[in-house]
Amino acid sequence: MRYCALASGSNGNCYYIAEGNNAVLVDIGINTKHVEQRMANVGIDPASVKAIFITHEHTDHIRGVSVFSKRYQIPVYMTAGSYRGSRLKLPENLIRIIRRDDEIVVGGLTIRGIPKYHDAQEPCSFLVSNGDINIGVLTDIGRICDNIKQVIQKVDVLLLETNYDEELLDRGSYPFFLKNRIRNGLGHLSNRMALETFLEYRTSRLQHLILGHLSGQNNTVELVQQAFSLYCKDIRLSIATRCQETELFDSQFFSSKSTKEIFVRQLSCQGTIVFPES
Ligand SMILES: [Zn+2]
Ligand SMILES: [Zn+2]
Repeated sequence: MRYCALASGSNGNCYYIAEGNNAVLVDIGINTKHVEQRMANVGIDPASVKAIFITHEHTDHIRGVSVFSKRYQIPVYMTAGSYRGSRLKLPENLIRIIRRDDEIVVGGLTIRGIPKYHDAQEPCSFLVSNGDINIGVLTDIGRICDNIKQVIQKVDVLLLETNYDEELLDRGSYPFFLKNRIRNGLGHLSNRMALETFLEYRTSRLQHLILGHLSGQNNTVELVQQAFSLYCKDIRLSIATRCQETELFDSQFFSSKSTKEIFVRQLSCQGTIVFPES
């Protein structure tokens, strides 16, 4: 399987997972021009995308959905609540309403919905499998429910949210209500919560941990790297950012010990696209 984060952060998320010639996108929270540019950067043909799965209706997950799906005539799978909340008006032939725990087959990939806690109408995460390798995409996680624990226990590749550093959020300039919205159990995972969860539920199966959905205000790549690198010496560790795509990873590297290294694509994100956070 090949996979990458085309964008990851509180201002835009888009994840690509492919098996052979068939691929899916999880969320399109950056505009289509940037999706296309970033795909070109790593050699992805947009025509390989056979389906788009949406986790929930927040802007950082749907910003580019309408244009991209229409331009390439790709069906969009989302829950009724997410569709209602998104206010998207997709053509009937492109919208596929799913339940939060549905299992959808796209080419050689099975995509399973994982219900989660988040301040959206009917949110879910997704577990994507080719029958051999399991990739979990877990962002916008309000709290660690049994679903999250079970997914972490079965994945070979885990994309996990590390949204905020607790001290930075606490000391930062966000109004009190917004701070509480982030940490009230329906918002996001902090670096500490993500690390504790990772350490408790990871198994020897896990080969690659990608940390993402970092807040631009309340977190830094350096803090996330500091928190996790000590515990990831036997697996590959990557940090996905908002400013550029990660490399296009291939699960074939799992067999090669020499590539199990700490990998950080980019340590600073100055001067790039700025979107409002949500
Ligand atoms: Zn959200
Ligand atoms: Zn989000």
